[in-house]
Amino acid sequence: MEALKKKIMTEGKAIGTDIIKVDSFLNHQIDVAFMNEIGKEFARIFSDVEVTKIVTIEASGIAIAAIASQYFNYVPVVFAKKTESRNLDPDKYHGEVYSFTKQKVYPIMISKKYISSEDKILIIDDFLANGKAALALKNLCEQAGATVQGVGIVIEKGFQSGGKLLREENHIRVESLAIIDSIDDGKITFRD
Ligand code: 5GP
Repeated sequence: MEALKKKIMTEGKAIGTDIIKVDSFLNHQIDVAFMNEIGKEFARIFSDVEVTKIVTIEASGIAIAAIASQYFNYVPVVFAKKTESRNLDPDKYHGEVYSFTKQKVYPIMISKKYISSEDKILIIDDFLANGKAALALKNLCEQAGATVQGVGIVIEKGFQSGGKLLREENHIRVESLAIIDSIDDGKITFRD
């Protein structure tokens, strides 16, 4: 998606050699008009499959998924929670994710009420790095017997292992709107 590449080039910042900061439109402040374009693009790419629900993970995935839902006939969005709380349904699916950015393992949970074996699910997330979050979300959906139609990613870091883990080792359809091939001395290079 050319507009996304342009946005990353003008507003994104490379941190070291492997982290991209896009707080001005995706991870802190949200550019809603631009998120609409992202939602439309996901809908165009996944127009060949049935989607009854979009699944994502808190926090940054929520806005992207909710805005995208408008272009998937307003299907419900379910986001995995990362912390236990007294008002979270005790009957839930569980998983664990190793966070590349936080360098620790955290739990993820979705109430059994909100995914069923009838569901055809599109997983959406902001970044793909080593693929642990997307794979754990897929496992949660499969615990419910749901079908995962694919994974939609806004920014994939192609130099990390997530693409290979999901596409080649787990045969998951992954569609990324921009793929970064390298970060070198603050310079971001995209895959064509
Ligand atoms: P993975 O599970 O694929 O290793 O990492 C994906 C998750 O880590 C995403 O949900 C995202 O929140 C976070 N993440 C990974 N790399 C980056 C990055 O370069 N920038 C930002 N902002 N988040 C990242």
